[in-house]
Amino acid sequence: MGENKRLQAGVTRRRFLRDSLWGTCLAGLGVLTGFVVGKHRKTNTLWQIDPYTCIACGNCATYCVLDESAVKCMHAFSVCGYCRICFGFFGPEPVDITEGAENQVCPTGAIKRTFVEEPYYEYIIDEKLCNGCGKCVKGCNAFGNGSLFLQVRHDRCLNCNECSIAAACPSGAWKRVPPQQPYLLKPALSPSAALRVNSAERMAAHPPQAEHGAGNHA
Ligand code: SF4
Ligand code: SF4
Ligand code: SF4
Repeated sequence: MGENKRLQAGVTRRRFLRDSLWGTCLAGLGVLTGFVVGKHRKTNTLWQIDPYTCIACGNCATYCVLDESAVKCMHAFSVCGYCRICFGFFGPEPVDITEGAENQVCPTGAIKRTFVEEPYYEYIIDEKLCNGCGKCVKGCNAFGNGSLFLQVRHDRCLNCNECSIAAACPSGAWKRVPPQQPYLLKPALSPSAALRVNSAERMAAHPPQAEHGAGNHA
């Protein structure tokens, strides 16, 4: 296979993975949004983190009133570069480029790295293991595309009147949001708009074939 075709196949596969993973993620959040609206029926607003203002200081892991923080890392697959050397996974000075625990920046091993196709790798967060420390977010923001970001999970959050993390946040990243739109996602689009963008990109990558005999004479 020629270099161009190999590159095209790789990009197409990466785009497919990106679209399907982020689509699945958004679909999951859609289900969760229904749950949130039901759970907080009497509440006008909920706490959420603006991912573009958060500086990943680490307070989200330790200031929550819950033993295990309500804040978790999310991954915007539509933004990720599927980098072989992900600075959210390895940190700035990895000992080696392997999945060995000593090379990983995540203190709980919550990020799963899987080979896709040279030179692409996929990174999936195991939310059960994530403590919201933001170390991966910091690395990705500093050296990558910023596809890792922190969000309050509303299936866990108690929606305290005075959120202790919001009070401790040095960057003012905590906002009040309506229960119908409880997540502030990257890219800064609504879930349905993000899906529309992904569909449009898919169309651009695979334009429909012209009908037989209807050639373009422009
Ligand atoms: S509102 Fe309460 S439970 Fe929710 S993140 Fe803040 S401190 Fe934790
Ligand atoms: S580095 Fe911290 S925020 Fe990122 S996945 Fe691991 S525990 Fe979660
Ligand atoms: S306390 Fe604020 S700046 Fe620090 S990790 Fe949480 S949201 Fe980000």
